[in-house]
Amino acid sequence: MTIFSKIINGEIPCYKIAENEEFFAFLDINPVNWGHTLVVPKRETDYIFDIADDELARMMIFAKRVAKALRETIPCRKIGVTVLGLEVPHAHIHLVPLKNEGDMNFSKKISDPDPEKMKQIAEAVRANMEEV
Ligand code: 5GP
Repeated sequence: MTIFSKIINGEIPCYKIAENEEFFAFLDINPVNWGHTLVVPKRETDYIFDIADDELARMMIFAKRVAKALRETIPCRKIGVTVLGLEVPHAHIHLVPLKNEGDMNFSKKISDPDPEKMKQIAEAVRANMEEV
């Protein structure tokens, strides 16, 4: 079982943003910028482009809902979208609030983010989430 499946199952805590029967969204524990969120399918697949077409389409629509709430919550210009998957073998989309290009620099993460700030961000984004 991947670390993300353990988060989805509640075995490992997270700052949850949203969930439906197929997908789960939570704050990245080492954000590149405040509000950095991961969108993960509950069904484990390592490589995102191995996901079936219809599931991948629904995953992007779920990510769209999360991005809307992020954009309404975190002061930013747009929500950037990245797929890496080099660390955790469970497909996921990174959503990152951007003011400029440098806000999407995965070599410069916020180390040891304040838990209280993470909690407040997650609560604020959840309050702006529509039905998923
Ligand atoms: P990638 O697989 O896309 O290269 O990177 C995995 C991402 O997952 C990283 O940005 C990392 O900070 C995040 N991550 C890894 N383990 C955990 C975890 O246990 N909890 C959370 N919330 N994020 C994690």
